[in-house]
Amino acid sequence: MSDCIFCKIINKEIPADIFYEDQDLIVFKDINPKAPIHYLIVTKQHIESINHLEKENISLIGGMFLTAKKIADKLGLKDKGYKLVFNVGRGGGQIVDHLHLHILGGW
Ligand code: AMP
Ligand code: ZN
Repeated sequence: MSDCIFCKIINKEIPADIFYEDQDLIVFKDINPKAPIHYLIVTKQHIESINHLEKENISLIGGMFLTAKKIADKLGLKDKGYKLVFNVGRGGGQIVDHLHLHILGGW
């Protein structure tokens, strides 16, 4: 979507500290970190939130978790432990309406 900040990052229209990228997902540093290590695992497809998922998105979501494990390993978090968070809707703290999984750790 043209006015979506994460779509702009995906399209390289605005910069981000990109850590990993493949066909389906992009991972970049959160600009306003809530943990010593805070990255966002973002679908390249513009899906608004968990509330907008369809059955056809199952493998995409499964891939997000496998990527989370891989990123945790690359960041040295795998053995120490970390949090994975989806905020859903305004009441759930979601401010960017483009599906993303937070990976937080390093405490
Ligand atoms: P949420 O509250 O789940 O929607 O999370 C959105 C996250 O995106 C927040 O933690 C923001 O700090 C982060 N964020 C917003 N704009 C950018 C940006 N341009 N680059 C990196 N992270 C961003
Ligand atoms: Zn988007």
